[in-house]
Amino acid sequence: MNGATVAIEGVAKTFQTRGRSTHALTGVDLTIRSGEFVALLGPSGCGKSTLLRIIGGLIEPDQGAVSVNGAGPHSARRAKQFGLVPQAPALVPWRTVEDNISFLATLNAKAGRTALSADRVSELVDAVGLRDFRQAYPHELSGGLQQRVALVRGFALGAPVLLMDEPFAALDEITRADARYLLLDLWSRTGSTVIFVTHSIPEAVILSDRVVVMAARPGRVAAMRTISLPRPRTADLEDAPAFHEHVRQLRADLREHHL
Ligand code: ADP
Repeated sequence: MNGATVAIEGVAKTFQTRGRSTHALTGVDLTIRSGEFVALLGPSGCGKSTLLRIIGGLIEPDQGAVSVNGAGPHSARRAKQFGLVPQAPALVPWRTVEDNISFLATLNAKAGRTALSADRVSELVDAVGLRDFRQAYPHELSGGLQQRVALVRGFALGAPVLLMDEPFAALDEITRADARYLLLDLWSRTGSTVIFVTHSIPEAVILSDRVVVMAARPGRVAAMRTISLPRPRTADLEDAPAFHEHVRQLRADLREHHL
């Protein structure tokens, strides 16, 4: 399975609330290549979620346009081009792990839309260490395991573009560190394009091919950095000078635009 190219051209969005205007995004131009892993990095309020929702066709930009392999976000959404992994795992409480993962994928496959085969889904379940939990219900799982289910579910849909909005925000630091490498493993098995919102610099570095640094008021792209670390990425890399150099550079980018 392959990803899809996402092109964002001149996107701007202003929210009006109680007579006040918030310039959530202005002049965003960005092309994300098929199969690329891109992080949107920045502090709260710089428009990361707004951009993700515009890409996914959930809200309309005031100006500019988004296309996915040349199609608009609405037709891309109808064609099930997007998978969403939210902050909270949002599992269906009365379905087992296996059903939570396969239920939407089966519906999509029946409707003739992309979805991974049962064998491939099984492989993903094993890859993230969920084999023994297939028949468990969400409430029987820790937060970390629940988020693994949500990750596999996102990939099992077979969507070419995965939109992830701080999917690890609710996890403790140790679980979160493991979850990053599981995510990379799943991504390398599927080749989807991933757009990943985070405000963690090390997380953006360890995961991404490119990091889009965003700044607030108005929300905009302040810098773009290519992460030159080799793949597959492993925890050892977090000790490498190149990793620290990327972290330092991004910290400087953020400081330049936020102080
Ligand atoms: P981030 O994801 O980087 O934290 P958001 O995209 O959520 O940023 O928000 C960017 C700005 O737009 C913030 O100032 C936020 O308050 C505002 N905003 C986002 N969504 C809405 C909305 N539906 N109505 C009004 N203001 C909004």
